[in-house]
Amino acid sequence: MTSSIGFKLERTIPVDEGYELVVAGGGPAGVGAAISAARLGTKVLLIEATGCMGGMGTSGLVTAFDPMANGEQMLVGGIMREIVETMYSRGYMSPGIDPNCWRKFYHRWSPFRVEGYKRILDELVVQAGVEVRFFTRLIDVDVSAADRTVNGVVTHNIEGYRFIKAKAFIDCTGDAILADLSGAACREAGRDTPNIMPATLPSLFVGIDWEKKRTVNEQKGAEVRQAIQAGHFTQPDPFLVGMSKVGHNVGYLNGGHLFNLNALRCRDLTEGIMLGRKIAEEYLHFYRKYIPGCENLEHVTTASLIGVRESRRIVGEYELNINDYMAKREFPDQIGVFNKFVDIHPYDYSEEAYQRHLIEKEKSFKLKEGEYFGIPYGILVPKGWNNLWVAGRCVSSDVMVHGSIRVQPACSMMGQAAGTAAVQAIRTGQTACTLDTEELVETLRKANAFLPQTSLSSAMTRS
Ligand SMILES: Cc1cc2nc3c(=O)[nH]c(=O)nc-3n(C[C@H](O)[C@H](O)[C@H](O)COP(=O)(O)OP(=O)(O)OC[C@H]3O[C@@H](n4cnc5c(N)ncnc54)[C@H](O)[C@@H]3O)c2cc1C
Repeated sequence: MTSSIGFKLERTIPVDEGYELVVAGGGPAGVGAAISAARLGTKVLLIEATGCMGGMGTSGLVTAFDPMANGEQMLVGGIMREIVETMYSRGYMSPGIDPNCWRKFYHRWSPFRVEGYKRILDELVVQAGVEVRFFTRLIDVDVSAADRTVNGVVTHNIEGYRFIKAKAFIDCTGDAILADLSGAACREAGRDTPNIMPATLPSLFVGIDWEKKRTVNEQKGAEVRQAIQAGHFTQPDPFLVGMSKVGHNVGYLNGGHLFNLNALRCRDLTEGIMLGRKIAEEYLHFYRKYIPGCENLEHVTTASLIGVRESRRIVGEYELNINDYMAKREFPDQIGVFNKFVDIHPYDYSEEAYQRHLIEKEKSFKLKEGEYFGIPYGILVPKGWNNLWVAGRCVSSDVMVHGSIRVQPACSMMGQAAGTAAVQAIRTGQTACTLDTEELVETLRKANAFLPQTSLSSAMTRS
């Protein structure tokens, strides 16, 4: 129980100087931000709480990239495209996968081998000249509140506390931790919205006979319903995303919703990961009993990070909304385009919630083949802030669009844009809010981003 009486702790913290840009969080957004900025000649420090980069894709065992093409062309260029193509050339994508999965096909996932992804990211950041600090957590921040500027961040690792100064900061923590500590306005799921999308604790399994299993699509539900009827599961959740092939006899399970988990509460995270492990064991027995090809299944591990879908998002200079998505809006300052359907998981395990999810996914909020919507620069900028950007899962959008852009390829594009914008600001004296977005788009295009807008504008689109 936390007491309401505070404890005043005074401590002298060593100061680290010499960095131009600090990126907090090494998931797809943070990696995109750090590499793009370092390649442009900036001195970058990447702070990561775990011992690898990749975020949800590695420590979270979400070992598949979401769709990157729209049935006609690849929409995601830049660093993300480089990563997936390099992984393919090294044999790190799932065996037998067709490159058209990410280059062309409509709504097709690209599963990968998690250790290969970690290795590629290690190589790319080192080659780019990024300084990485693993096992290091950002815990506080010093700001000049009046002019909305971040002066430095406080980190903690085995060597103790450090105060790290820089000219620019990018929050890629997934939970907008740096933005929130800075005092930037944020929305929290469950506090500012009626619901929190459920989390999931993914797992890796071995012993799958994929040839035999191919005929079963557990997401369609017959076997899951049978098991629910038989009282197999602690919670009767009809929605099982299912197992993806990530190795010759290896599968990644995206299964087991952790409902109403508030990822900004330590108790919820603690109880949630314990429940997630219990559910994963129930799926082990379910697969062995009900799914052909999985009779010899072995459970290797659950993830070390909970798969959080929704927690905190900033209030940005622009808030991308479902009308923009449905209108396939093109923005002059767009920093990426995307096609993925709006994926809002059910808020509880009722049949009604599951059916609503299916309708939204298949009929209501899904762009067609060949289509895409724009992701504008302003969703990366906390409203009014000068040297602070946010990229990845915690950018500024409504809940519906968040259901599309929270995935790894979109996070990577946003990270690359934030890193590129920060360098432009450092070099020119422009701020996050006053950035010349025409120059930004041109720099991103030179770095192979796919930005098909026909007209550009020096000013960002604002809400
Ligand atoms: C169950 C589930 C299934 C999914 N399936 C897919 C899928 O199939 N395909 C897909 O493309 N996407 C999928 N996603 C979405 C996607 O994985 C994430 O939304 C995406 O990885 C978010 O990227 P990010 O860079 O914003 O944050 P993250 O990937 O969450 O990375 C944030 C990083 O910041 C670090 N960090 C956090 N706080 C601090 C701190 N204070 N100091 C230092 N470091 C910190 C974390 O350790 C982490 O490495 C799924 C998500 C979930 C939850």
